[in-house]
Amino acid sequence: MLLTLTTTHRPATDLGHLLVKHPERVQSFGLPAGTAHVLYPEADEQRCTAALLVEVDPFKLGGGRGRRQAATPDSFTLGQYVNDRPYAASSLLSSALAKVFRSALRGESRDRPELAATPIPLEVRVPVLRCRGGAELAVRLFAPLGWAVTATPIPLDEAYPEWGDSRYVDLTLTGALRVADALNHLYVLLPVLDDAKHYWVAPDEVDKLLRAGAGWLADHPERSLITRRYLAHSRALAGEALARLAELRLADEAPVDDTVDPVGPAEEPDRKRASLALRRREAVLAALRDQGASRVLDLGCGGGALLAALVADRRFTEIVGTDVSSQALTLAARRLRLDRLPERQRDRIKLWQSALTYRDDRLRGYDAAVLMEVIEHLDPPRLPALEDAVFGHVRPGTVVVTTPNVEYNVRYEGLGTGRFRHADHRFEWTRAEFAAWVDRVAVAHGYAATLGGVGDDDPEVGSPTQLAVFTRTEEAARKEEIRA
Ligand code: SAH
Repeated sequence: MLLTLTTTHRPATDLGHLLVKHPERVQSFGLPAGTAHVLYPEADEQRCTAALLVEVDPFKLGGGRGRRQAATPDSFTLGQYVNDRPYAASSLLSSALAKVFRSALRGESRDRPELAATPIPLEVRVPVLRCRGGAELAVRLFAPLGWAVTATPIPLDEAYPEWGDSRYVDLTLTGALRVADALNHLYVLLPVLDDAKHYWVAPDEVDKLLRAGAGWLADHPERSLITRRYLAHSRALAGEALARLAELRLADEAPVDDTVDPVGPAEEPDRKRASLALRRREAVLAALRDQGASRVLDLGCGGGALLAALVADRRFTEIVGTDVSSQALTLAARRLRLDRLPERQRDRIKLWQSALTYRDDRLRGYDAAVLMEVIEHLDPPRLPALEDAVFGHVRPGTVVVTTPNVEYNVRYEGLGTGRFRHADHRFEWTRAEFAAWVDRVAVAHGYAATLGGVGDDDPEVGSPTQLAVFTRTEEAARKEEIRA
């Protein structure tokens, strides 16, 4: 079975550094069920292709050594030894990937750390892939991850087209992705498409899946099919994995705040929700840039969607995410791939567990703080504590706050009257309520504030999201200097 990975990034031979396999060498690795070879059919400045070729030993595969590796359902029959396993890409190819490209899967590259963190033009080809669910499923699994997918069914026998197609497809993926992401997608999705029965499961299989799926599986529209198939041998494990993914989604970013869709077909909500979340992030980033902030706090950072956007902009030299939930921080670390970032990038980012209702000295001295979709998660009697901690104690030059505009909720069809957008919201304010709060806090703590909205501005009910930018006044700043 064969998989090739091609790049046209210049110099293309850098692929060798990313995969940690020298383009001029053929290397072989022993596997439980055969041998994997890595070689480069082409390697020049313009174009470089690495090929992973796995030779399967049918005897080992059949359990010759007493191991139960991917045996066919008809154990102890000839089927163990005579089957398509040696030729069609499958979970065996996936385990070969894991073994042969271990550090590349983690996004590590000693020689080209920056490149490892950068999307580059890639083409993946798997000429024979067993694909239960057909070519169409391959598209459904890879396309949402940013791949252009060509999956061509292979006829059962070219001489007899009337026999129809086989279960195999010829798969080509093209896109601009990080090599690590590409490898992780393949590592998880090849066995999912194959959907062969595995009988041997390591106990840490769920962890492995979540690790390889970090940053893309929780939000994948087919996450449930992927998880079930990946862990097909065990309902309990699939259940556990799905529950953990759901938790990640729940703890993840505020898009869950806009779970209700104003209009439209079933697939609409996700898109709408995502687009409002995106516009909100853009609005917050614009406010931070406007204020010339470079050292910023994202308070109640959740799953780190804003952090990721901050990291992508070099003007933000120090970025701190805080949250009261350690799970949210774990998720943020995964989304940012903290453990895979080059040191220089990693040093820009800190993630701290911290409650907004307590004064935290670590947060003092930054240019700006963001409270994006956070205040409405606090019980109203706890708000004054947040005001004191953020505006009274941390006192950054700028504070950007966003929160839902409850008036807009009537535009969300299906959101019962009086219901909030998210189960964990303790309140949602009208524009007048938010304005009054902003005004009171600004006056009390020596800030000036401007109000705005994010999302479509409805003539009657305003925008779905309200936004306020607080800037510490000169006078307040002077007084503080004198006091200091
Ligand atoms: N700002 C993120 C997440 C919003 S969800 C975004 O817009 O995507 C609200 C977040 O606030 C959750 O992650 C929750 O854990 C956090 N949170 C709630 N109460 C908090 C408190 N008292 N202190 C710190 N974080 C809190």
